[in-house]
Amino acid sequence: MNRTAEIVIIGGGISGLATAYNLAAMGMKDVVVLEKSYLMSGSTGRCGAGVRQQWGTEMNCLLAKASCEIFENLNEILDYEGDIEFKQGGYLLMAVTEKEVEQFKKNVALQNSLGIKSVLLSPEEALEIVPDLNIEGILACAFHHKDGHANPFHTMIAYAEAAKRLGVKIYTYTEVTGIMVEGGRIRGVKTNRGDIFTGRVLIAAGAWSREVGAMAGVDIPVRPERHQILVTEPVNHRLGPMIMSFAGNIYCQQEPGGEFIMGYGPAEHETYSITSSWDFLEVMCRKAVRFLPYLRNIRIVRQWSGLYEISPDAQPILGRVEQVEGLYVATGFSGHGFMFGPITGVLMAQCILGLPTTIPIDKLDLARFERGELIFEPSVV
Ligand code: FAD
Repeated sequence: MNRTAEIVIIGGGISGLATAYNLAAMGMKDVVVLEKSYLMSGSTGRCGAGVRQQWGTEMNCLLAKASCEIFENLNEILDYEGDIEFKQGGYLLMAVTEKEVEQFKKNVALQNSLGIKSVLLSPEEALEIVPDLNIEGILACAFHHKDGHANPFHTMIAYAEAAKRLGVKIYTYTEVTGIMVEGGRIRGVKTNRGDIFTGRVLIAAGAWSREVGAMAGVDIPVRPERHQILVTEPVNHRLGPMIMSFAGNIYCQQEPGGEFIMGYGPAEHETYSITSSWDFLEVMCRKAVRFLPYLRNIRIVRQWSGLYEISPDAQPILGRVEQVEGLYVATGFSGHGFMFGPITGVLMAQCILGLPTTIPIDKLDLARFERGELIFEPSVV
C-alpha cells in the first residue's frame, strides 16, 4: 500500500470515486481512495438510482442539470465497455395537496428559467404518460422527460475502472482509524493497514462522515437514517417514467428487465442498522397499489435498506473545511447523492486543485451551519 499520497479520499462510494477520477483526469498524481469495506457497500450500492432535474432551488437545479448531462455521456467519458443503463423515461411528480400544486408551479417556472424543460400537467394529461395511473386524489403533476435512472453498480464500476487506468490507487477493506493533523494542517491518515502521509484528505464517507470528521477534530453534522426499498418480479406493464409523490411519500421506477423498484421516507430512527422490516413491506405495497393498481398480487423478490446521510438542511456539504488546511468534505446529500455524484466529482476536483468551480459551491460549505445560513429545498423525499 502507498505510504504517501497527494490526496487520500475516504470513502469508495460515488462521491469519492467520481472525485478521484476527475482529480486524476485533471492531472493530479498519487490519488488514493480508501474504502473500509467493498466498493459500493455504502449508500451508493443500495440506492434507488433516480436522477431528476426537477428541484425547487436554483442550486439544486443547476447541480442536477449538469450531473444529468454527464450521465448522458458517461459511458463515453469513462470509456466504459459496459453500460451504465441511463434511461431517460422522465420523472412524473404527483401533487396530492393544494400546497404542493402551488410549489410545483413555482418549481416549474424556476426550472424553465434555468433551461430545464419541465411542464405542469393536469391529472388527465398525466394519463397520456402513465395510462394505468390511478389519478384519484392527484391534483396536478410535473413532468420532465430528461429525468430518469441509472444502474448504480455499472456507474460505480465505470468510475473505478477509469480512475484506476489513470493511476488512482483504490484500497478496499482499508479503514481509516485516525486523521493526523499538526499545526492546523493535514499530515496523513491512520488505517488498519498502516499510515499514509498526505497534505490533503477528502471526507466522502457518506453516513459515517461525522465520525470520520471527528478524527480531524471537525464536526460534520451528518446523521445516518435508514431507508428501505424493495424490488418486484418482472412485470409486463411498462411504467415509462419514474413516479414520485412528496406528500404521498413514494418513488417507484421500472428497471429495463421489467422489475419495479420502490421506496419511501419518512425518517426512521437515527441508526447504522441496515436491517429490513415487515412494516415497510406492508406500507410500501399499499402506497404502490394506490397509484398503480395493477401491481396488486405482484410478487416481491427482494428488499433491502441503506443509509441516507442527512445534513441539518438535507442539502449537500461540499468544499474546503476552514478549520483544517488540506481537509475537504463531500457528503450530506440526504437521499440524492447518487444523482449529484458525477457533478460532485467535477466540482470537488476543481475545488481541491484550487480552480474556479464551474458551479459556485460556496453556499454549500460546512461553515453555513455555524453562520445559520441553512438552505430550504422544498422538493426532497
Ligand atoms: P456512500 O456511497 O455511502 O459511500 C461512503 C463510503 O465510505 C462507504 O462505502 C463506507 O464504507 C466508506 N467509509 C465510511 N467510513 C470509512 C472509514 N472510516 N474508512 C474508509 N471508508 C469509510 N440518491 C439519488 O440520487 N437517487 C435516488 O433515487 C436515491 N435513492 C436512495 C434510496 C435508498 C434506499 C438510499 C439508502 C439512498 C438513496 N439515495 C439516492 C442516496 C444516495 O445513495 C447517496 O446519497 C449516495 O450514494 C452517497 O454517496 P457517497 O459516495 O457520498 O456515500
